[in-house]
Amino acid sequence: MITTRVTDSEENIHSTFGSRFVRDPLPRYKMPEKSIPKDAAYQIINDELMLDGNPRLNLASFVTTWMEPECDKLIMASINKNYVDMDEYPVTTELQNRCVNMIAHLFNAPVGESETAIGVGTVGSSEAIMLAGLAFKRKWQQRRRDQGLPCDKPNIVTGANVQVCWEKFARYFEVELKEVKLREGYYVMDPEKAVEMVDENTICVAAILGSTLTGEFEDVKVLNDLLVQKNAETGWDTPIHVDAASGGFIAPFLYPDLEWDFRLPLVKSINVSGHKYGLVYAGVGWVIWRTKDDLPDDLVFHINYLGADQPTFTLNFSKGSSQIIAQYYQLIRLGFEGYRNIIENCMENARVLKEGIERTGQFEVLSKDVGVPLVAFMLKDSTKHTVFDIAESLRRFGWIVPAYTMPADAQHIAVMRVVIREDFNRSLAMRLVTDIEKVLQEHEVRANRLSATTVIKTDAEENHAKKTVVQIQEEVTRHWKKFVKGRKAIVC
Ligand SMILES: *Cc1c(COP(=O)(O)O)cnc(C)c1O
Repeated sequence: MITTRVTDSEENIHSTFGSRFVRDPLPRYKMPEKSIPKDAAYQIINDELMLDGNPRLNLASFVTTWMEPECDKLIMASINKNYVDMDEYPVTTELQNRCVNMIAHLFNAPVGESETAIGVGTVGSSEAIMLAGLAFKRKWQQRRRDQGLPCDKPNIVTGANVQVCWEKFARYFEVELKEVKLREGYYVMDPEKAVEMVDENTICVAAILGSTLTGEFEDVKVLNDLLVQKNAETGWDTPIHVDAASGGFIAPFLYPDLEWDFRLPLVKSINVSGHKYGLVYAGVGWVIWRTKDDLPDDLVFHINYLGADQPTFTLNFSKGSSQIIAQYYQLIRLGFEGYRNIIENCMENARVLKEGIERTGQFEVLSKDVGVPLVAFMLKDSTKHTVFDIAESLRRFGWIVPAYTMPADAQHIAVMRVVIREDFNRSLAMRLVTDIEKVLQEHEVRANRLSATTVIKTDAEENHAKKTVVQIQEEVTRHWKKFVKGRKAIVC
């Protein structure tokens, strides 16, 4: 039999790109029968991954894309540690508890200097929000049962600008989501309307510190005061949760006098993403409860570890330890001073970018000066091109900038958003402005060329010209919505 099969020993002397492994397509549906050499596997996967975007240029995400090499070393050294093995890795457990204490103090939880705070490390804010939401649901049910009242129709009040994980919570844990609608020019939850929506079945009102869409802080203080009043009038006991996924590591450093946290009596729990401005790679979040009483006992599992009681409350069992260790590294390495410096730089770079974007004369900036360091902006005139076109064109320069439409009732507004992270420096900000200018110019040239060739206008086009700016905007966003349907989760 004539065969061209290369023998194993021959394979070993071939270079990777001279071997058959780079020539054959990799199976995509069924596991291959045979093994391949490790260097070939590495090369093939590594090369295919080259087509992913560059995380550092991914301006769509709040999630950390750079850490110090010293911390990378700690992460790699603990990559094989399962966090749940608390008996075996007691130090890791201790580091998590220290992080919980430090973050609780940062949020002004009523705990003494050397008292243990109530909270837990999670995979991210989503898990943290599921846990906090569950605690509220359980507390509310207990109270209703004690009063002999029905407890089968729980609801939660939020703004329509909530991150998708709240919709997940509502659906997974069977709680009705009552959203306060937005309006043009106002893109956060109106506290007055929120309190109006509260009824006897409301398990909590969720406020966002750092709206995902515009970075704006919701007014938790006003919400608290209005709700205190309503509770007094009705005899209800509706609490507040603050979703501080992005703002939890901003406000304490930049706006220490802003009251949004446990200083407000109705705030019973707060979540924050360690992997956003907590400055750790993806995979860590935190939820902190005001006091032990705010976390129903029957949701907590007690693990007896080293003779001591270690309460746990998470959805998952196994998970990595690296992120917890990395969070502890950041907290002690940077300290208050370090976080403040980094966040101040982010704000400063956001300001430069914002000014550059405004200088083009074509955009209106929606993000506020106080809030999360990001720039959200819309086109003043979307008749020639849209923010979706601009986002598309920016891709050519390597930039990944998301464009999306606002939730109800501001659906006709389409915006772009650039998140400023620690690793986005001044020269990158200036270069992005230059590239946006280039894109605008290109679009201008193209639009002129097009209009020069259109001599005879049809009736439809004449009518088009008579449409108001809002109508055109609505039409354009309706068109684009088809493409970006279900994209809410992409804005993270
Ligand atoms: C990012 C974000 C979330 C989800 O957090 P993950 O840590 O990605 O799970 C929830 N709420 C807000 C306001 C966010 O910005």
